[in-house]
Amino acid sequence: MGADLPNITIPPELLPADGRFGSGPSKVRSEAVAALAGVAGSYLGTSHRRPGVRQVVGRVRAGLATLLSLPEGYEILLGNGGATAFWDAAAFGLIASRSQHLSFGEFSAKFAAVAKGAPHLEDPDVIESAPGSCPDPVARAGIDVYALTQNETSTGVVAPVLRPRGAELESDALVVVDATSAAGGVRVDPGEFDVYYFSPQKCLGSDGGLWLAACSPAAVERIERLAASGRWLPPSLSLLLALENSRQDQTYNTPALATLFLLANQVEWFLEHGGLEWSAGRSEASSSILYQWADEHPMAAPFVTDPDRRSPVVVTIDLDAAVDADVVSAVLRRNGVVDTESYRKLGRNQLRIACFPAVEPDDVRRLTGVLEHVIDVLTAS
Ligand SMILES: *Cc1c(COP(=O)(O)O)cnc(C)c1O
Repeated sequence: MGADLPNITIPPELLPADGRFGSGPSKVRSEAVAALAGVAGSYLGTSHRRPGVRQVVGRVRAGLATLLSLPEGYEILLGNGGATAFWDAAAFGLIASRSQHLSFGEFSAKFAAVAKGAPHLEDPDVIESAPGSCPDPVARAGIDVYALTQNETSTGVVAPVLRPRGAELESDALVVVDATSAAGGVRVDPGEFDVYYFSPQKCLGSDGGLWLAACSPAAVERIERLAASGRWLPPSLSLLLALENSRQDQTYNTPALATLFLLANQVEWFLEHGGLEWSAGRSEASSSILYQWADEHPMAAPFVTDPDRRSPVVVTIDLDAAVDADVVSAVLRRNGVVDTESYRKLGRNQLRIACFPAVEPDDVRRLTGVLEHVIDVLTAS
């Protein structure tokens, strides 16, 4: 694009105070970064096996348990490698023989592909639907893991987190939810899942590289049973090692200490303001502004047609063919408003805007003014 990109300068008074609208890595609050800088000399570069860092891990685990209203007996596990590594860990240590996957975008499809590739597992049952929608799980005999995705980040679809019901449901089937871009920004009933896993660089306003998983007693039992079954578990992907280390407020190998600190800070920021109800409410307020704008603007429309499936945390907006969304995003980028590009493989004339809790609803309101301005200028000539 570069050379022929229209030279549009957005009037500074229209610009949001913070121009980060990416879906991950996403906006990290400057207050959290300042708090990290404040403790840097006594925290960064210290042993993760000593109380200074373990206390931060303890705050993360306890804070997340409170944020998610986890029932008695549920526990927070963590390890290195992000949600992507968790898929591999789940293929080794959570799926006993056959999983069902709801596949409706890039991320949900990736976990299905991991299960399909695992030589020790049966071919998974994959239920697909077109991008912009989501399928329902179907209770079936022989399925021991139902793999749901609460927010499909590639398309901006939010899906219900509900245990499948039906006569065919195995009594020990686990509901395993990819909540990577949902945890902390979308409400959830912990009674409806056994594993709720995520990375910290989305709603949780930190950096990438870690995975966290809220696990029910049934999930812990599955982890212990599969680890004892003799199946080979690569140590860095062993959920049993993750469980044992998490219980000590540690990780099996060295974690990124800055990521842990920023995560603890964000979780406590949510809790100080009222918890998940508050953080999810902020995302809802932000995304409503964008959906309403897109509904009303003649050149824009929400991509997800069913209003109940429109994500409160990742908003996808299709633009009229008369306006090139890539040009809009590039103009925004040149003016310091970044990462509004659509998911690359979706291939639509689309903007994708994260409304994670760290994003100020007022900045989202300003963003609609910026979009208005850029679209006006681009269509005027
Ligand atoms: C971002 C994302 C992932 C991948 O997370 P990593 O931390 O990069 O491994 C997986 N699932 C969903 C739904 C995501 O949004």
